[in-house]
Amino acid sequence: MSAPPALQVRALSVAYDRDLAVHEVDLSVGVGEVVALLGPSGSGKSTLLHAVAGFLAPSAGEVWLHGRRVSSPSRVDPPERRDVAVVFQNGALWPHLSAVDTVAYPLRRRRMGKARARAEAVQILDRLDVGHLARRRPAELSGGEAQRVGLARALARGASLYLFDEPTANLDTHVRALFLTELAERQRVSGTAGLYATHDAEEALGLADRIVLLRDGRVVQVGPPELVYSRPVDLWAARLTGPATYLSAPLVSVGTGTGVVDIAGERVRVRCEAGGDGPGSLLVRPGWAHLGGTLPGRLRAVWFRGPHSDHQVETPAGEVLIREPGGPRGRVGDRVGWSLERVWPLAAPGARPQPPRTTAGPD
Ligand code: ADP
Repeated sequence: MSAPPALQVRALSVAYDRDLAVHEVDLSVGVGEVVALLGPSGSGKSTLLHAVAGFLAPSAGEVWLHGRRVSSPSRVDPPERRDVAVVFQNGALWPHLSAVDTVAYPLRRRRMGKARARAEAVQILDRLDVGHLARRRPAELSGGEAQRVGLARALARGASLYLFDEPTANLDTHVRALFLTELAERQRVSGTAGLYATHDAEEALGLADRIVLLRDGRVVQVGPPELVYSRPVDLWAARLTGPATYLSAPLVSVGTGTGVVDIAGERVRVRCEAGGDGPGSLLVRPGWAHLGGTLPGRLRAVWFRGPHSDHQVETPAGEVLIREPGGPRGRVGDRVGWSLERVWPLAAPGARPQPPRTTAGPD
């Protein structure tokens, strides 16, 4: 029999007074897996994490950790009886402890000798670029530095499940990259699991094995990053998961993996999966169309973004965003030819979203 998942949330609902913030959520995180909980502010990410950590009781449903039930409406094991480390956005630090003692504390609790614990604590602080602040107390740290110490403390905890509540929100890009690399390394070495709440699609897509999209406390879609990015269940999910433009053009036919789109009378063969059916619009991600080609268009806007440039192209079927490596390929107002490589048909707004045909999970 395979090992039970690190985390299983079963039909979980959580209410504040009588308002449900989380509605019948099912999700699991396998051992060694990182799952991102992606949703806008107010979608219930923190509430869900608090329920998993044991700070909030469910009004219905259950939480299981490594095959052990830890929360149900009638019984909630306290946070300290769960092998879970929580990294909250504004994780409080003990005011009287220096950074090194803060990080050494969980190591000492795991019965590590004092000298070794302090040495290891300094190493972890170093990897997050705050080793030089090891002797400082929270009052002597900036907000971002304090947050990094909090991250280091959580990493030192060595738990089998990490819960991250937008932990990188206040970090600059450099520290964010350091932290994510460190996290991935730990994941790889010790097989810990992570549930990572964020509203940042790029971050979620880059770090998670699977993504759970949350809207108004409900799960909207679950799948690997590539799937939720390229086959979102509806317009809302498409917008949440990255830059998206839509063509209103008839999809003349769909075969296995290909389709034919009619753009102003020109029939274009494209990559296309059947699935998000409906006489709606065709999602086009920035890399799915290219400049150069026989389709007519005009540049509406151009943004140089360093490694690549984005081009907003007005076409007979609507505006499409085209990303090309390097500098801008023209100026606003220029006529351009373009080509379409791939689309994803989305249901019309208001239509019932079709679940994606393939989702992958640990169970
Ligand atoms: P997120 O983490 O995705 O921003 P939250 O879990 O914080 O979302 O909030 C989900 C919903 O629950 C929101 O409507 C929010 O207003 C509500 N909520 C959060 N915390 C409380 C609270 N302590 N009391 C009452 N309502 C709350």
